[in-house]
Amino acid sequence: MKSGNPLAAAIVIALSTALVVFYAFLRPEQTVAIIIIYLATIIALSFIVYFISKMYGKLKTSIDAEDFAEITESLNTEIIVWCDDFSFVAMNTRIRDLLGITGSKYDEKEMLKKAFELPDLTDESFKKITETGSHEAHFLTNEDKLITIAWSTSVIKKRKKNCVYLSTGFNLTEIKNMQVNLDNANDFFNTAMDLAEIGVIMSTDRKKFIVSSIAMEALGLTTSSIDIGTLRTQIHPNDRIQFDRAVKSGDSYSSEVQNVELRIKSLNGSAYRWYSFRYKSIESTGNTLVLFGGALLDITQEHEKDILIERLAYIDEVTEIANRNKLMDIGQKTYECSQLLNYSYWIIVLDIDRFHIINDTCGYSNGNYILKNFAHILYKFVTPGGLAARISGDNFALVLRDYGDDELPIRTAKTIQDEFAKLAVDDFAAISLSCSAGFSKLPDDGNSFLDVMEHAEFALKSGDANNSSIYGYEPSMHDSIIGNTELEKALALAIEHNELQLYYQPKIDLKTGKIIGVEALIRWIKPDGTVIKPDSFVPIAESSHLIGKISEFVLNEGCRQNKLWQKMGYPNIVMSINFTSTDFYQNDLKDKVLDALAMSGLDPQWLEVELTETLALSDIDFAVAQMNKLRDLGVKLAMDDFGTGYSSLSYLQILPITLLKLDRSFITDIQHDNIAYEIVSAVIRIAKSKRIETIAEGIENTGQEDILRQAGCDYGQGYLYGKPMPASKLEEFFEKNAEVHY
Ligand code: C2E
Ligand code: MG
Ligand code: MG
Repeated sequence: MKSGNPLAAAIVIALSTALVVFYAFLRPEQTVAIIIIYLATIIALSFIVYFISKMYGKLKTSIDAEDFAEITESLNTEIIVWCDDFSFVAMNTRIRDLLGITGSKYDEKEMLKKAFELPDLTDESFKKITETGSHEAHFLTNEDKLITIAWSTSVIKKRKKNCVYLSTGFNLTEIKNMQVNLDNANDFFNTAMDLAEIGVIMSTDRKKFIVSSIAMEALGLTTSSIDIGTLRTQIHPNDRIQFDRAVKSGDSYSSEVQNVELRIKSLNGSAYRWYSFRYKSIESTGNTLVLFGGALLDITQEHEKDILIERLAYIDEVTEIANRNKLMDIGQKTYECSQLLNYSYWIIVLDIDRFHIINDTCGYSNGNYILKNFAHILYKFVTPGGLAARISGDNFALVLRDYGDDELPIRTAKTIQDEFAKLAVDDFAAISLSCSAGFSKLPDDGNSFLDVMEHAEFALKSGDANNSSIYGYEPSMHDSIIGNTELEKALALAIEHNELQLYYQPKIDLKTGKIIGVEALIRWIKPDGTVIKPDSFVPIAESSHLIGKISEFVLNEGCRQNKLWQKMGYPNIVMSINFTSTDFYQNDLKDKVLDALAMSGLDPQWLEVELTETLALSDIDFAVAQMNKLRDLGVKLAMDDFGTGYSSLSYLQILPITLLKLDRSFITDIQHDNIAYEIVSAVIRIAKSKRIETIAEGIENTGQEDILRQAGCDYGQGYLYGKPMPASKLEEFFEKNAEVHY
């Protein structure tokens, strides 16, 4: 008897603890309530076992019913004292009520069998109870209610003939019901989660997580639980700190739902997917344990879309390095940082010498090959905190941290020149590949990053852009460069001698094949017949007052020519002219356009102005105001070279444009480059939704034309339909295509 007490108590405690752990594992959200009930019960049971054992220790040889009643009735649990030969069976009221015993006489054996849920009354059956010490029994009350009792049985008296046992019960009925309800609620909850494709993970100790079926699938688990260590290894190394922070927040209760985005891969080794992890910690009632849990929502698709848009906005398509947009963004931050921390940086602007010749002689794909490789060379020089970017066309920038070595920019530019020259092999063996550079220092050389960069560009232009020049910016350069270059003088004379002429390139309706307009592209025709393309002289004209004269000529001549064609009986078409930022930001822009229209008699609807994004965005408020003035006149507005500059689709909301020109770089590779295709079709779709028409530049073959037509592009322009040509040639073009066009 004396040894039976601690053993029984130990068994009760072990059993109860096992049950608590089991329930806590299964129902973490109910852990606290269950723990309280169990703890109370363990204490009560231990006390009962102790108390009854003590009392029975005092009994001598027999147990009388009155003594039994006196001892057990006051205890708040089911109690049976019985001899294994059934010479004595006593049950307290609690168990008798459950068994439906009303009077003092009852079939004791049958009731014992029912209470313990024994198949029969054999010694074997009882042995199971007495040897194991604890078992769970179920029986139905007279009202058909299913009762579950966990019995704990221990010897309280060993005699020669028989043994006396004490069985104390713990009524599990309510907990079982609670579990059924919870199971139903959980089924409902899990189904809802499954339908919403949301995975759920929960934990009370933040060491082991219970995982819903969708989360199991996502994590590649075969069981519904995972320890934090394994879960952590499935999270992308760069996102683990965020995850740790989220889990740590579970130490304390917070009513706020928090959100982090994590890359998680499945245990079956598939690639990382993006998840939005919405988590929260809940204070459990009456306990200090905090329930931490979160929902995992797969947002990979949204991320891919964002990446596409981000790519469009920040990555240069051809070279796959940062574009001007990213350079400006990071550059300005670097500028601010450099002021704050007393650091300095170099910005080197590089231009590939005679790139237009490479492009014209070797073709666009070879041109792109050169650009890519040039970018690759620059990339090798990027040090932490620095950046390589393609600013536009064949212009690149390299931002380098300055460590007090004033020779660094020159040395770097020279090494880049050497590396670049080495590319002149195979197809490029006949060409000498060189580049020129201008550099400046930030924050010393300007009031903003843009300012410093423009000064590096200024230094670049101050050299001979065709001959591997490297120049550092000096403020005194401003005085010497403007109005002094040979080219500028020659250009001034060319304007005087009417050597500038407009060429026209047709724009075609991709559905009907009809010509809907022409783009006026300026040419400098030297007296010896040499035709100079605008890329060679427009930038120079732009850095001086000459651009104003050129633009005035283009505007007036374009309007005059279009009106003349109308008078000649050719179909009404739109004349597009290109404006530089100097032209565009003139206060009298509207008056100049009005004058040109008035002088020519051209209706404004047949005039279109092409602007580049970079131009429009350098002072967005003023640009929008200028654009609205032109729109008010009835003039059309096109965004030129879309995709090369800032290219943020959000600008389409702000800028009052009527036509979007997709840059040639997208079109060139559209048949083979999936990303180019995806970007082009996304841009067309978005433009359509904003009622903006789209035109593709640089269509050179019918394959590109077909794809663009299918993608919903409205118009096309490119060598496939015609190269830029003088007015007389365009008239031939009209005649030749008369069948289609009239
Ligand atoms: P842009 O406005 O984007 O003009 C389109 C350029 O692409 C033209 O070069 C045109 O000849 C070329 N192009 C058109 N279709 C194809 C094609 O299928 N394949 C290829 N490889 N190229 C094609 P262009 O005439 O040399 O003009 C270059 C840039 O110079 C123009 O780009 C524009 O920004 C500027 N520009 C031209 N004329 C003027 C002007 O009158 N004023 C101003 N401010 N800029 C002008
Ligand atoms: Mg243009
Ligand atoms: Mg263009």
